[in-house]
Amino acid sequence: MQDACYNPVAVQTAVDLANTLRPVKGEDALETLEQLQDFLDAHPAAEPPGTVPRQLTHADLTEVRALRETVREVLERSSANAVEAAALINDGLRRSRATPVLRHEGDRWWTEVTSGADRRSTHLAATTLSALASVIATLGPARLGVCAGLNCRATFVDLSRNGSKQYCTRNCAHRASVAAYRSRRSPH
Ligand SMILES: [Zn+2]
Repeated sequence: MQDACYNPVAVQTAVDLANTLRPVKGEDALETLEQLQDFLDAHPAAEPPGTVPRQLTHADLTEVRALRETVREVLERSSANAVEAAALINDGLRRSRATPVLRHEGDRWWTEVTSGADRRSTHLAATTLSALASVIATLGPARLGVCAGLNCRATFVDLSRNGSKQYCTRNCAHRASVAAYRSRRSPH
């Protein structure tokens, strides 16, 4: 039943948005309108339902990049300072005029949060921030985190049963265990 409290697709959209920036490598995959279009195409939860997509503008890019800052800060701070993360979420939800809606397809019913404002960035803000809010409310603020891998700092949300995730990917976990093994074997 707990799974029904958050939308895993929207949660992943939040994480993927934050990880378009790779702070250690200095790589940014959200610098152009084409990159923004690619991100939105790859994340259906980012698109307001029932609207005809219009041409993206530089204002959309600027707004989505600003939202990314907020989403990343929430993911980075939540486990150490949940009150601060909650304030960021609440402020973002208020500014995006987040609105819960009840939808159905045949007999299947679910709730979604969308935006009362007609902008890509505000819908994306409402979707991603409400998804992170639901994870915090359901599983706790420590489920949001930053990869413990050296030279990584990618963000993640841990939706696993035991909630012991420390690394963004298996690759990062593997690299860290190899490094730990080498340092144990080396006397230096
Ligand atoms: Zn990592």
